[in-house]
Amino acid sequence: MTTESISQAGPGTPMPVALEEAYHALEARFEQFYIAVEQSPVATAITDAEGHITFVNQRFSSITGYSREELIGRTPAVIQSGMTPDAVYREMWATLRAGSVWAGEILNRRKNGELYWEFETITPVRGGAGQILNFVAVKEDITQRKQQENELRLLATAFETGQATVITNADMEIERVNQAFTDITGYRSEEVMGKTPRLFKSGRHDGAFYQRMWTALRETGHWQGEIWNRNKYGDVYPLWQSITAVPDGQGDIRNYVSVFHDIAERKRMELELKNQATRDHLTGAYNRRAFDKALSQSIDKALHTSEPFVLLLFDIDHFKQVNDTHGHDVGDEILKQLAECIRSCLRESDILSRWGGEEFTILLRGTNLSGGTAFAERIRERVARQKFVDCSITISIGVAEYRLGETQERLISRTDKALYLAKHQGRNSVVVCNQAESCEGA
Ligand code: GH3
Ligand code: MG
Ligand code: MG
Repeated sequence: MTTESISQAGPGTPMPVALEEAYHALEARFEQFYIAVEQSPVATAITDAEGHITFVNQRFSSITGYSREELIGRTPAVIQSGMTPDAVYREMWATLRAGSVWAGEILNRRKNGELYWEFETITPVRGGAGQILNFVAVKEDITQRKQQENELRLLATAFETGQATVITNADMEIERVNQAFTDITGYRSEEVMGKTPRLFKSGRHDGAFYQRMWTALRETGHWQGEIWNRNKYGDVYPLWQSITAVPDGQGDIRNYVSVFHDIAERKRMELELKNQATRDHLTGAYNRRAFDKALSQSIDKALHTSEPFVLLLFDIDHFKQVNDTHGHDVGDEILKQLAECIRSCLRESDILSRWGGEEFTILLRGTNLSGGTAFAERIRERVARQKFVDCSITISIGVAEYRLGETQERLISRTDKALYLAKHQGRNSVVVCNQAESCEGA
């Protein structure tokens, strides 16, 4: 249908002037609508009541790839993909036949075989007697939107199922977190929105640590490393965290994306492996190898800095008898409890080791002879007072301070001699090496 066909539709005989003016006004109005529809970015098709296409606009042709000639007289089946469920068409026709407008999404196929999504609104046009004359279909190609939706759905799934993630704005205010974040930190999304990650600070890192992180973020846009955070319940735990600054188009930072995972288990295993190599299984005290290493380090330090240190060697009195009376298992438990008791008396820098059997050494770093002697006396008394698996035990202790220049073996031998003297004195006693004549000469 064109404007000419309308003009030619007028009768051959001249019309009355008023009628002719009205006719021309109508014709002009029609032309406006025609141009609007023809140039509209929205694809439009008109069918007759039987569904045969009587009109398509330019956009319809360009979307489908079919020329007008190829479409006029055909039904829209020509562009159907065969992939839209029948139920959609059934519902569409039921709505249209009832005289109502139908709108929905349909997957169609272009002439070149390509599939595309369109959002279609079909309006039935009725004649004066109420009968349906035409259907006007207006369609919008939503393929790109559908693809974006799919992509977003995909990204959202990846976000939700991936590692714990926090997204903040440039001011570090939290904008989004995922499920894994909640699993690790205990905080639900609504509890952290708008807050900054300062909320998770454990207090374990100094200002310089955060300064380094910010410098790396500013200079390279990225930081990763081990960090200790505090969860909602107050527990402090180690994380491996990776933070990336996300710039906007102008090069300013728009977001920070922080991804992390809990490395407590890894840390625990590392510690366990380290402990296995350095600790005695029964008592948890350091083993002989770890003791040797600590002793040689202390000697090195003493030689460089003259820092004093004291070695204690102690042995349970009459332990054979304890085993004989209560059994070996009770003896084992006593050894464990004794180590625990001694450990509770130590400073962080002191080293308790199981020398062998029921003999232990204690390295008191940064301590001189009088300090070491007082300590030895304190633990001797404490052991004598305390019960171990309901048993009373006593210990004998040899004490010696390291003399600059002497060998490891010499120090041990002097301490051992002091212990021997303590046993000789009647046990449950402390002997200090350079107080004993025979020890001096050992
Ligand atoms: P004293 O030291 O007072 O001279 O007498 P003692 O009976 O303690 O004699 P000694 O130190 O020579 O003997 C060590 C005993 O300790 C031998 C063994 O029965 C016991 N013992 C050594 N290692 C273990 C252990 O791992 N578990 C248990 N239950 N007993 C141990
Ligand atoms: Mg003993
Ligand atoms: Mg012994």
